[in-house]
Amino acid sequence: MRGRPWMPSAPNESGSSSHRKEEHEMKRIKNFINGEFIEAAGGRLFDKRSPLDNQIIAQVSEAGRAEVEAAVAAGRAALEGEWGRITVADRVELLYGVANEINRRFEDFLAAEVADTGKPRSLASHLDIPRGAANFKIFADVVKNVPSEFFEMATPDGRGAINYAVRRPVGVVGVVCPWNLPLLLMTWKVGPALACGNVVVVKPSEETRQTATLLGEVMNAVGIPKGVYNVVHGFGPDSAGEFLTRHPGVNAITFTGETRTGAAIMKAAAEGARPVSLEMGGKNPAIIFADADLDAAIEGTLRSCFANCGQVCLGTERVYVERPLFEAFVARLKKGAEALVIGHPDKADTGLGPLISREHQEKVLGYYRKAVEEGATVVTGGGVPDMPAELKDGAWVQPTIWTGLGDEAAIAREEIFGPCTLVMPFDSEEEVVRRANNTNYGLAASVWTKDVTRAHRVAGRLEVGLVWVNSWFLRDLRTPFGGSKQSGIGREGGVHSLEFYTELKNICVKL
Ligand code: NAD
Repeated sequence: MRGRPWMPSAPNESGSSSHRKEEHEMKRIKNFINGEFIEAAGGRLFDKRSPLDNQIIAQVSEAGRAEVEAAVAAGRAALEGEWGRITVADRVELLYGVANEINRRFEDFLAAEVADTGKPRSLASHLDIPRGAANFKIFADVVKNVPSEFFEMATPDGRGAINYAVRRPVGVVGVVCPWNLPLLLMTWKVGPALACGNVVVVKPSEETRQTATLLGEVMNAVGIPKGVYNVVHGFGPDSAGEFLTRHPGVNAITFTGETRTGAAIMKAAAEGARPVSLEMGGKNPAIIFADADLDAAIEGTLRSCFANCGQVCLGTERVYVERPLFEAFVARLKKGAEALVIGHPDKADTGLGPLISREHQEKVLGYYRKAVEEGATVVTGGGVPDMPAELKDGAWVQPTIWTGLGDEAAIAREEIFGPCTLVMPFDSEEEVVRRANNTNYGLAASVWTKDVTRAHRVAGRLEVGLVWVNSWFLRDLRTPFGGSKQSGIGREGGVHSLEFYTELKNICVKL
């Protein structure tokens, strides 16, 4: 475990990375509770393996019931203390400070995220880390600028009354996160939660716990009061995830991850009738009409299928192409997929890293086998790439394109969460809308056409929370984000986040 240039090096306070030292030392990742980095009582540890080579790169302290209890209690105490009395203006300044401090420590966050996920540095430096910082700034701005409502009303005595609504924090918010965009998706919830005056207890994915921990250092450096931001590490069932979501002191739970996990969390939240915000799985279609700008559609579809090694909830796993364009589209998509450079995250030309883990690799390869068993034509990929000896044990898979199967195939129905897609022809708008909607999921879709009227018409009929026309993953953070059907409950983003992270209280004053 020594001397690998890409390995993050010596642990600092949180056990997170400091990229300055050459030698790698085994990191101990601690929980962050009440402003302090602590190891769980009893010393339970679990290993984190690098997706690049399956080597153990860290040991993580698993929080038990006692640590979750301490984190919730710290949050409650913060609400009753200084944080509960802070003005909006001061809160906003603190959150600007968090954004600035993340940017100041950009390289530390980048090294940590890349070590945990194996994703290309070029991707993480453009997406994960900048967005992780921006999430604090944008929601501070939302809270600073949001208006409230006011109504005058008549009363029988003629003197009248006035009503005005104020927003108050919900309290202790449990934040349960996935591994695909760890910092980005976590701060997407922590940013608005803190901007609204709540406190959080974050349970990062067991696969990606470094950046959440590093954020604890940022909170301390900036002067966020103790107990406002807490992190507990561990797994889901019978571990930190379940302990947190079942804890009666948690007032609301926000979650991103698989649909079946979301359903389990919803059951836990039913105890005490606590609100949930759920961002869950998808099986997102792309619809390419024959009049589409082919270059743009290919570029966008290559990104939507293969970015982050296909581990993006908004990613495309079903591509419907109007028949006259089908052959040409498949040929161009194949060429693009084969041109993707699979490799080490530090290399500038790397377009595709590994999957998150060997376990996930096995799941994705299971679908690669199933596709063949069901009779798919493998246009490209379908297996494990030939990697250099030092990376052989990593969670690598080839970008894969299939044709020859229809909507009933497992690869057309089930979320795979890998760099793979099934391309199918269609003949009419009516047909493609029906087929695109024929799924239990409803997260995102993209539509490629030069016909503006058709674009609006089709976008309006798709049963999803987000539609991109002639683009993909173009995000304005003020807009509503979330899924319909089994892809989600609730919307976050801009003022929509306030619906979840605040209680709107009406005050009626009789004059
Ligand atoms: P996952 O559901 O396996 O895990 C997510 C988190 O939930 C982890 O922190 C895990 O430890 C925790 N967890 C698991 N079981 C739990 C339980 N019973 N109680 C409490 N916590 C529990 O998801 P994942 O594999 O980490 O992430 C991939 C999934 O996330 C995909 O399905 C993807 O589509 C989805 N996702 C959705 C969005 C979105 O915005 N809709 C964004 C990113 C990822």
